[in-house]
Amino acid sequence: MHTIEIKNGIIVDGSGSDSYIGNVYLKDKEIIAITHGEVINSDISIDATGKIVTPGFIDLHSHSDFSFLLDSTAQSKLRQGVTMELLGNCGFSLCAPLNKYTKEDFDSWISEYTDTFDITWSDFGGYIAASKKAKATINLAFQVGHGTLRASVMGYEDRTPSADELDKMKNLAGECLDAGALGLSTGLVYSPGTYSRTDELISIAEEVSKRNKLYSTHQRDEGNDSVGLYVSLNEAIEVGRRTECKVQVSHVKCDSKAVWGTADKYINLLESANKEGLDIAGDQYPYNRWSTSLAGGLFPIWAQAGKFIGMGYVRNDGYIDPDFVLSGEYELEVATKRVRANVCLKPLYDPKLEKVKT
Ligand SMILES: [Zn+2]
Repeated sequence: MHTIEIKNGIIVDGSGSDSYIGNVYLKDKEIIAITHGEVINSDISIDATGKIVTPGFIDLHSHSDFSFLLDSTAQSKLRQGVTMELLGNCGFSLCAPLNKYTKEDFDSWISEYTDTFDITWSDFGGYIAASKKAKATINLAFQVGHGTLRASVMGYEDRTPSADELDKMKNLAGECLDAGALGLSTGLVYSPGTYSRTDELISIAEEVSKRNKLYSTHQRDEGNDSVGLYVSLNEAIEVGRRTECKVQVSHVKCDSKAVWGTADKYINLLESANKEGLDIAGDQYPYNRWSTSLAGGLFPIWAQAGKFIGMGYVRNDGYIDPDFVLSGEYELEVATKRVRANVCLKPLYDPKLEKVKT
């Protein structure tokens, strides 16, 4: 086996210590030495001058739930240096558990890519086994989505669960966590997660806390669309406080003019929760737009109650394809005919519109 040298790179080893210029030596798929410049005889030398040499990046916020089942090579992530992904974010674990309600969601998403996918599982353990069998080139970790649990037990109903339904959700959450899910995610801006009240979240998150796993949340409002950014952040903190779960606030942002320039306040709230003894953190996109499904971005939550609404399609003229609208109690005619699809890519902050305080 050849010895490989990666020479003169800026080494960031992931331990938190400062970077330094050095050489990395590999043999038999293992690192055999890291030097600060000392040279070891090698068969192959790669010049990494000016480049960062690092073990890899963890993508904590991914929606690649079924991507590895379709293409396990994961070129798009691997070539960015991502070596691990945490799936099942924002309340959606699209691949599991699957039953008559959630299978409709799964079919809708996967039909974007293939007509011939063969589902070999229905529970979370089966899904993890299928993912392992696919032999992904990077490491995968899974979360179970609260929206998926809720849809499994009570469909897309806009109401609080009965005691029996809540028990079923808790049991199902426990089952998924025991089968290997690393945590529970919520998507409180999306149907059906948005129909929950805080007590429901706390009740289910207790299953997470018992197992010392993660509660991650796409919070209920990231701007001023419903309860407001700070009431929403306090809800995430309250879940941590009352369950003692580790909490991850997903894709932190101040989304809407009403809260632009208040990032300091946001961070102060997170820091004071940590000082109080909670384990709460946040993450951000590496870009200054938000990204979501058309249904999640455009249609009012009341209009999505009672049924699953898929991804949405944009026609060449920029309007949403009306075929996308499923029949239900409410018709989304106004939205489909008049709303321009590009509003789903609205800027988080546009310096031309307003100067944000720093
Ligand atoms: Zn999200």
